[in-house]
Amino acid sequence: MRLTFLGATETVTGSKFLFESAGKRILIDCGLFQGLKDLRLRNWQDPPVDPRSVDAIILTHAHIDHTGYLPRFVRQGFRGPIYGTPATIDLLRILLPDSAHLQEEEARFRNKTRRTRHEEALPLYTTEDADAALRLTQAVPYRTPFTVAPGLQYDLLPAGHILGSAFVRFQAESKTVLFTGDIGRFDTPVIKDPETVESADYLILESTYGNRLHKEQEGHHGKLALRDIIVETAKRGGTVLIPSFAVGRAQEILYYMRELEEEGEIPTLPVYVDSPMAVDAFEIYRDHAEEHDLEMNRLKANGTNPLVTKNVTFVRTVQDSKAINDHHFPCVIISANGMATGGRIVHHLMNRLPDGRNSVVFVGFQAAGTRGRYLVEGARTVRIYGLDYPVRAEIRSIQGFSAHGDYGEILRWLQSFKSAPRKTFLVHGEPRAITGMKEHIQNTHPGWDITIPRYTEAFEL
Ligand SMILES: [Zn+2]
Repeated sequence: MRLTFLGATETVTGSKFLFESAGKRILIDCGLFQGLKDLRLRNWQDPPVDPRSVDAIILTHAHIDHTGYLPRFVRQGFRGPIYGTPATIDLLRILLPDSAHLQEEEARFRNKTRRTRHEEALPLYTTEDADAALRLTQAVPYRTPFTVAPGLQYDLLPAGHILGSAFVRFQAESKTVLFTGDIGRFDTPVIKDPETVESADYLILESTYGNRLHKEQEGHHGKLALRDIIVETAKRGGTVLIPSFAVGRAQEILYYMRELEEEGEIPTLPVYVDSPMAVDAFEIYRDHAEEHDLEMNRLKANGTNPLVTKNVTFVRTVQDSKAINDHHFPCVIISANGMATGGRIVHHLMNRLPDGRNSVVFVGFQAAGTRGRYLVEGARTVRIYGLDYPVRAEIRSIQGFSAHGDYGEILRWLQSFKSAPRKTFLVHGEPRAITGMKEHIQNTHPGWDITIPRYTEAFEL
């Protein structure tokens, strides 16, 4: 068996792991690199593995940093099946075309602004490429062993991160190899907890928050911090702008806002969910009841829709999105994407950042090099489409909503291991997070063999 790390090494993006066993080559995740330019350029280089030589792809979950390279990979010749849970495949149907659309938009913008004078800028991939990738998808339910080849089997276990998220667990050559993808959190609303695992010979473990704990005082995973920001901003007549991943985070925010309204903790404000993708994601979240935790199912049994507030508007068209700009009374706008690198959120930032009454609330991890990261780190101006905008709005960051476990929660998940893996590979973390995770595991699990792989590094298992 052989394992090669083709992404998410000392970064949180570009997840791609090549696993070779029983004469088969399987790619686990096929993510897009995002953030820093050196990383993004990798998306344009020939992939380190010939896509035509890969037999199958298995996805841990639908987020673009785990799936956004699929259309490019198919364009370059991959023709095998792409496996994921039913919810992951449903989410991909909205995420991949959207990602393609953003790639096309960016190419159009670069051509219009003539940043590329010599030749026409081309998109990384097109909507047709995304459709071609979607045609290769096949749904595999949780806990159902799937045989790839004689002697090579895998199953998917709930990871508790977003709808459909899974651990990928291989049984090969009488060994177990477990890829965690992104590990979610315990006791969150909406989605079930991550499944406990008792053993694995090789563990490929994420480390996004390897050096951080989500702040305790944020309470209920960030709900109380959100309450304070909404109340304060409404008092001064401002708008709360929430850049959010369309899938997962947006649903959780609405869930908590509904609770806060019912508890009389916040005023009933107009809430705009301004992202066609988020609107679709709400429907997919509603339909996959098999993934919901008990609280969600209890509310639905009472006839409550747990994922809507009293005065919520789901905005699909560009025209309706622009109409939000005319809204100058207190309101809440949830828009994608979560790191403010593209999508409708960019227009809302242009519109709302210069006004000191408004708040911009980041509710997810901001990767290095993104507009979100600059804002969170206190930038006084921010450049959007070539113009500088003053940052007068209050910038806040709530880590409590993270869909990733912090190191404490990952250590809690590791506690169920009854024996040490032969080797644990740490991935999906920026350098400080990943070394932090290593130290924490060494303290709590002395004797574990921990490796931090580098880009394109390969290991015989
Ligand atoms: Zn994720």
